[in-house]
Amino acid sequence: MSHPAKASEFLQDAAKAKWHDETLWFVRDKRDTISKTIPEWEKLRELASQIKDNVLANLDKYLVQFEEKATANGIKVHWAKDAEEHNQIVLSILQRHQCKAIVKSKSILTEECHLNPFLENNGVEVVDTDLGERIVQFLNQPPSHIVLPAIHLKKRDISELFHEKLHTEKGNEDPAYLTHAARLHLREKFLGAKVAITGVNFGVAETGEFVVCTNEGNADMGVHLADVHIACMGIEKIIPRRKDLGVFLRLLARSATGQPITNYNSHFRSPAAGKEIHIVLVDNGRTDQLAREKFKNSLKCIRCGACMNTCPIYRRSGGYSYGSVVPGPIGSILSPGLDVKKYSTLPFASTLCGSCTDVCPVKINIHEQLYEWRQEITKAQGTNAKSISMKIANGIFAVPFAYKVTGVMMRGALKILPDSITYSGLNTWGKQRDLPETPKETFKDWYKKNRT
Ligand code: SF4
Repeated sequence: MSHPAKASEFLQDAAKAKWHDETLWFVRDKRDTISKTIPEWEKLRELASQIKDNVLANLDKYLVQFEEKATANGIKVHWAKDAEEHNQIVLSILQRHQCKAIVKSKSILTEECHLNPFLENNGVEVVDTDLGERIVQFLNQPPSHIVLPAIHLKKRDISELFHEKLHTEKGNEDPAYLTHAARLHLREKFLGAKVAITGVNFGVAETGEFVVCTNEGNADMGVHLADVHIACMGIEKIIPRRKDLGVFLRLLARSATGQPITNYNSHFRSPAAGKEIHIVLVDNGRTDQLAREKFKNSLKCIRCGACMNTCPIYRRSGGYSYGSVVPGPIGSILSPGLDVKKYSTLPFASTLCGSCTDVCPVKINIHEQLYEWRQEITKAQGTNAKSISMKIANGIFAVPFAYKVTGVMMRGALKILPDSITYSGLNTWGKQRDLPETPKETFKDWYKKNRT
């Protein structure tokens, strides 16, 4: 289903859509307020962007450096060219440890690789331990936002869900009560898991360590109780030096939720005695994206979600309307790189207002890439109704006489054609808008009368 069709479904519940829009705008507003407290905010953005440019230009070098250092620190490093290989590597580690239940902290990469269903099909129970992720997991839904996975749900929805799954009091919507119930439920899962999986926010090439950022401390709880830690990392998450973290950590939390710092920024460098740390470095289309000169900048993304919170389309159409793991403006430039046909409507889900580019902490030119994708997709689609009508319009606009005659004909026709024709399925513009009243005279006639 295309983005417009899914967006229409979301908009069926007008009150919920309004609430979704306002809630995300509230987060965007918090980001604005806190970023203004940092006088060097723009310099930080510029610096982050330059560091990421350097990473993309030297990715091969930094990855090899990271592998050498991490291996020397006692971490087992694995390479996965795609999602399938990633999932097989994770499964083989679990099988070696005869592990049938794991806890996982938020990782967009594992969503991208569809790790949960893969492991479940192989007899492994997977428990997502981030509260929002656990909520959507109970519902068999994917996250609808990369930072706020359950942002599409209201307190009432969660109260009903927890009553059914965790036997909480019916009708109790108190967030503290519901969170406490989730905590008790998750604690049991933490205590029973031999293996914990996390994502990675930053891999530091010079030291071989990696950093995981969470607000709930769930990644730390999982890995400290488990014997084995598997960290899944997209290859673009490398940064050259530890001191670069000072730039990214300041930008990340402020851009994501308007907080000065994420609650837990945990560094993992080497396994404790008797324990194991594995890191799986995943490509899954990233080197293909790196080879696309116009789109490689999209790999600079640090997954803060700010472009979603500000996007007027995302706020009014919801994360699921994108049908991709990463929704919103950044998803609309990353996803066509994975499957241009499947995600062909996403670059058009934008007003091209440029707000995404303005808030992006690593200065990705998102709206320009959306526009570039539109051109690529339009070219690839070849001739269609829109391209034919544009060619006809071009011919008419290029010849003054044809323009004049067509104008006369259309003004006459619009007055007499029934609505069933002027508002037919061909006129998608007219779905939510009325055609303007037909003018009595042309602009040219008006001009002659009034300006000569
Ligand atoms: S593209 Fe920029 S604003 Fe959007 S999620 Fe990535 S880093 Fe954040």
